Amino acid sequence: MRVLVVEDDVALCAMIRRRLMEQGFVVDMVHDGVEAETLAQQGVHDVVVLDLGLPSRNGLSVLRTWRRAGLSIPTIILSARNSWQEKIEGIEAGADDYLGKPFAMAELVTRIKALLRRSYRHNQAPLATSSFTLDEGQQAVLWHDGRSVALTATEFRLLRCLMLSAGRIVTKEYLLDHIYDFDDEHEHDHNVIEVHILNLRKKIGHGMIVTKRHQGYLFQSEATPVVS
Ligand code: CA
Repeated sequence: MRVLVVEDDVALCAMIRRRLMEQGFVVDMVHDGVEAETLAQQGVHDVVVLDLGLPSRNGLSVLRTWRRAGLSIPTIILSARNSWQEKIEGIEAGADDYLGKPFAMAELVTRIKALLRRSYRHNQAPLATSSFTLDEGQQAVLWHDGRSVALTATEFRLLRCLMLSAGRIVTKEYLLDHIYDFDDEHEHDHNVIEVHILNLRKKIGHGMIVTKRHQGYLFQSEATPVVS
């Protein structure tokens, strides 16, 4: 899942990015309001963490522009403007959540995960299927019989993305957008998705990720038996 962090405090921004990356998120950073406004409209991010005091354009104005344009991207305001009146103003401008500074990184991460589940209409925490649970802390698959299978960082990002999208077809383009950032050389490489899907199937079985020819992939929480 891909997070856009809009924060002009460069050190804080880098710290948030590092923590989110440890949690298996892909993170793009931007330090300026005008740039943030444009970047989010590309539609590749799942969540925005938005500071309010920004150069060029303040966060509230950026958020109002997105909402006026019909962009419903889940947004959590992260701001030192922390009174209840300011929180009301932020939520009325279209924020989905509001966290005051100073904040605990663990709380930010938890709120981001909750926003993601809500935006994917996924009421399940942790993410699970009929036969395994995705352990987001360990980035591993925990089978209901007690076995644990480790995932690589990319496999974890891919599987979480597929599980959150369970029951609907996702294209390779969509998966690339949500598991790589703008700087990654693989950003447009469809073959790399195929390779990771192949590796994931070796770990979780072949029935759960169904290939839809010319369309993409469909994750099924209940695996259908593969007929050989
Ligand atoms: Ca600021």
